Amino acid sequence: MHRFRPYHRYLRQVKVPLVLSILCGIFYGASSGAGLPLMLNYVFPKVFASADAAAPVALTGWQIALVAAWLPMVFLLRGIADYANVYLLQYAGTRVLEAIRLDYFKKLQVLPLAFFQKRSTGDLISRGIADTSQLQVALVNVTNDLIKQPATLVFAISAVAYLAFREQGVAMVLASLAVVPVCVLPIRFIGKKIVRRAARVQEELGSLSGRMSENLSAIREVRAFGLEDYEARRFSTTTRALIKAQMKVVKYQRALNPMIEFVSALGVSITFIYAYRVGVALEAFIPVVGALFMCYDPIKKLGMVNTELKRGSAALDRLEVVFNEPVDIADPAQPVAVTKLRGDLAFEDVTFHYGPDTPALSSVDVRIPRGTVCALVGPTGAGKSTFANLVPRFYDATEGRVTIDGIDVRAMRLADLRRNIAIVSQEPVLFNDTIANNLLLSRPDASRAEIEQAAKDAFAHDFILEKEHGYDTVIGERGQSLSGGQRQRLALARAFLRNAPILILDEATSALDARTEEQIQQALSRLMVGKTVLIIAHRFSTIRDATKILVFQGGRIVASGDHATLHAANDLYRTLYETQRAAGKA
Ligand code: ADP
Repeated sequence: MHRFRPYHRYLRQVKVPLVLSILCGIFYGASSGAGLPLMLNYVFPKVFASADAAAPVALTGWQIALVAAWLPMVFLLRGIADYANVYLLQYAGTRVLEAIRLDYFKKLQVLPLAFFQKRSTGDLISRGIADTSQLQVALVNVTNDLIKQPATLVFAISAVAYLAFREQGVAMVLASLAVVPVCVLPIRFIGKKIVRRAARVQEELGSLSGRMSENLSAIREVRAFGLEDYEARRFSTTTRALIKAQMKVVKYQRALNPMIEFVSALGVSITFIYAYRVGVALEAFIPVVGALFMCYDPIKKLGMVNTELKRGSAALDRLEVVFNEPVDIADPAQPVAVTKLRGDLAFEDVTFHYGPDTPALSSVDVRIPRGTVCALVGPTGAGKSTFANLVPRFYDATEGRVTIDGIDVRAMRLADLRRNIAIVSQEPVLFNDTIANNLLLSRPDASRAEIEQAAKDAFAHDFILEKEHGYDTVIGERGQSLSGGQRQRLALARAFLRNAPILILDEATSALDARTEEQIQQALSRLMVGKTVLIIAHRFSTIRDATKILVFQGGRIVASGDHATLHAANDLYRTLYETQRAAGKA
């Protein structure tokens, strides 16, 4: 149980329903464990004359009604207690589940980007949904059985012991309870088998949703390469593995009931043999057997508590992969107060490693004064994106430091830093919401007039008005109802709205029609005015017009300067530049 101690705080918010549910569980246990056997013992013999009684007891009408009502009343009260117990427990369980899921989701929001490169999205989704559910089921079942079953068992055993003792003394008690401990054996044996297989089911669920999310994120490629059948086969292999794992759990889980029932029948027959030998009367024997039967179910369920705990703990293991992952890119303890930065950017002897192998950036030392339009050029894999990613702290420098206005980026609050940076990526991410709300993401307090102005600056206003609901048009998941050029212009409108002193642009490589291209170029040059701009440049016009060019190769800046200087003096630059020009991108 100590495995779950760090999570006890989740139970605090559901204290009241939990306690009420426990009380109902105890009541349920008392009425099942002792209520029925005692009735068999006390009430029925009074009504039905036993063989040796002289004459049946004469009952008044009231007494008959009372006896007749006894059984339904016991069941009704027991039923109500059971219902309330389960209902309240489920309620508490779903509340706990909600809290755990929310914490899981919140943690995903702050984990460093590097974490997500090691994990499949589908698996992370599965952990957040299937494993949290598994945890909830474990919590509900365990809490339920830990109260109700011991209560039932204690009352039932007490009833057996009391009745048996009264009839025949200790020997009869021992005879009737002899098989109870034997029941534990199949439970332990099967429990162990289930735990391992259940963990496997959770893993397979993770792979299944991994497979599905990978497929959904590549629907275009699947069609383009004609991979439909191939993908279906891969999916089928994964579902088959899941089914196999699930059936193994079923195999053992379902074997438990018949085994327990067999053992309990054995128990009854031992009691029967003993009772026959010592000559116990039927009315004394029946209540003992009744109470004995009441013992087996709680024993079975209590035995399964351990299995449930283990299943819960396996689910927790999978959640803790996320919960325990350190958030190394976080706010500093004492952040430097920052409002609007000027935008003087500097890399001071920065080295950066993604992993243990060769650094993606080595000893990069460069100053980019405010207002500089700085083009980053170089072959693929040279380190341009990595360089740009260090500014908003998507990653932190392994050695050296990145500063803005002389302040280490790690000394500022993340929100303050990132508010001062606008990013326009090659493939702008849009959400399934209205155009206005998509723009507002970059500055939630912007007025409608400001949104429209930003859209006008980005040449987006006209096409937005042509949409059915204008700014209130919902654009579909990832903005699928828009063209590539329209998505880019919305991304630029966002950057206008943000009006941050530092702008990071990853220039789109895909070709657009000439008019859109021209509009985007115009919007860009308008957007860049007065800002410190890092631009991963693919168009030679952008490169040529930049005030400063950094040439990257193998993680190092191998040359810097303006176009004319570099073109005259640097071979690598000249080759790169001519290649871009030959590619015909204006
Ligand atoms: P560029 O933008 O110039 O194409 P990058 O900055 O993307 O280059 O990459 C620089 C180097 O770092 C490359 O060798 C690349 O393989 C490696 N790299 C980039 N991103 C990652 C990552 N997320 N994990 C591990 N290595 C990476």
